[in-house]
Amino acid sequence: MPAFKTLDDLTDIAGKRVLVRVDLNVPVTDGKVSDTTRIERVAPTILELSQKGAKVILLAHFGRPKGEPVADQSLSLIAPAVEEVLDQRVAFASDCIGAPAADAIAKMHDGDILLLENTRFHKGEEKNEAGFTAELAKNGDIYVNDAFSAAHRAHASTEGLAHHLPAYAGRTMQAELEALEKGLGQPTRPVVAIVGGAKVSTKIDLLSNLVTKVDALVIGGGMANTFIAAQGIDVGKSLCEHDLADTARSIMETAKTAGCAIVLPVDGVVAREFKANAANETVEINAIPADAMMLDVGPKSVELINGWIEKAATLVWNGPLGAFEIAPFDKATVSAALHAADQTKAGKLVSVAGGGDTVSALNHAGVADDFSYVSTAGGAFLEWMEGKELPGVAVLTKG
Ligand code: AMP
Repeated sequence: MPAFKTLDDLTDIAGKRVLVRVDLNVPVTDGKVSDTTRIERVAPTILELSQKGAKVILLAHFGRPKGEPVADQSLSLIAPAVEEVLDQRVAFASDCIGAPAADAIAKMHDGDILLLENTRFHKGEEKNEAGFTAELAKNGDIYVNDAFSAAHRAHASTEGLAHHLPAYAGRTMQAELEALEKGLGQPTRPVVAIVGGAKVSTKIDLLSNLVTKVDALVIGGGMANTFIAAQGIDVGKSLCEHDLADTARSIMETAKTAGCAIVLPVDGVVAREFKANAANETVEINAIPADAMMLDVGPKSVELINGWIEKAATLVWNGPLGAFEIAPFDKATVSAALHAADQTKAGKLVSVAGGGDTVSALNHAGVADDFSYVSTAGGAFLEWMEGKELPGVAVLTKG
């Protein structure tokens, strides 16, 4: 990965206006922020810049307001939670461009923090419009992007601004890029990927990219059924995309050519109902009853997967191995997650996970803190795993 500039390169910034793109797209219930994780993630960058005496001007989107102001998608609703997490006063401006922004910035002292209104209240944001980007750029001397989770979008505040102002990665962006580099950029081999989750159809690009990059690809979850069925094995009533049999076979072919081992379940836990504590049994993979569905991979498969985790120097993980939200079909996911966490803690494994339900699956297993890195950036993390260039990252790394 080409080098990118970080806050370490920003030394003499007292009094400078620093536009910081952050991710404040947090969940809100009954008008209150119900999960402050994303705010906590960007706090170090904001506080570091403030302590260095910069005028810290926050840019963010919230919801999908489609280019015009929508009252319940105003960042003014989020400002109190930002103040609370930072334990510092955060001023608010009712527009991210024009007089409201300029007036609020004019009132700032060194070290002050100002949150500008939702960038997506303007159509120019998502269109990455030159005029709108220039208006945003007027408010700053320096641009810092700390929103990796929005980096798969080439929007004015995530990409465009870097063409107008000297651009730097914030601390969260930096940590994410460094972790991803260790995961698939320049990984220590062997590299093992675990991909689970519901459907092959949502992860074709992911699987196709991984088989060309990793040494072994473990496939679990509902999507394993499609691969198993593609080999002529009856999967009963299991979630299965029979129309993707050819795709599954072609992914396996590509893997073979690339020297990537494909690891499929050899047994499964089956039930007749998709609900917690449904009556269940463990069967060999070629003995799934016609009226049953596989909701988790079985103990022999877990042993196999844990063996691959032991062989790995690097692990990248997306998607649960079974229907982890309903007990006891969380067993395989929890067991493999614990094993990966133990290997990581023993210094034998670099483990990078993220995307969709993976964070909640690892939280459920209680190991999210024991992985080398868990990305909370859903779509951006997946696009990175798919091998796609992220515009918000490319613009930082291409200088
Ligand atoms: P994804 O968002 O694609 O990572 O998929 C996660 C979802 O896949 C979770 O809600 C799981 O319950 C579901 N899932 C995993 N394994 C299975 C399975 N064997 N059958 C049905 N759903 C599954």
